[in-house]
Amino acid sequence: MLYAPLRKCDFTRKPFNVSTLQHAEPLVSLDHLILAYVIALLSALTGVAIYAELRRRRFEPTPSEDRIFRCTRCGYVYTDDPDVDRSRCSQCGQNNDAIQF
Ligand SMILES: [Zn+2]
Repeated sequence: MLYAPLRKCDFTRKPFNVSTLQHAEPLVSLDHLILAYVIALLSALTGVAIYAELRRRRFEPTPSEDRIFRCTRCGYVYTDDPDVDRSRCSQCGQNNDAIQF
């Protein structure tokens, strides 16, 4: 439950009378209206953030399991299947070991 901040007493106000009933407080107070606005705004932002993250993951390339090789003779960098321990360079034919990170 929300409580309005304490206000100083206004002694200049007239006491309650029937005519003020016609201009009674609205059913929804300003505090609740602002709270509903903030909640709606944060919900919309959260929805946009989740949608953007899902969209980013969908288009992101999947990580490759291939091994990376660098030729010791010509320096050519290439990849081969993950089950290959030594791979032949396609530029000069040298057999090379996979690079360990
Ligand atoms: Zn090579």
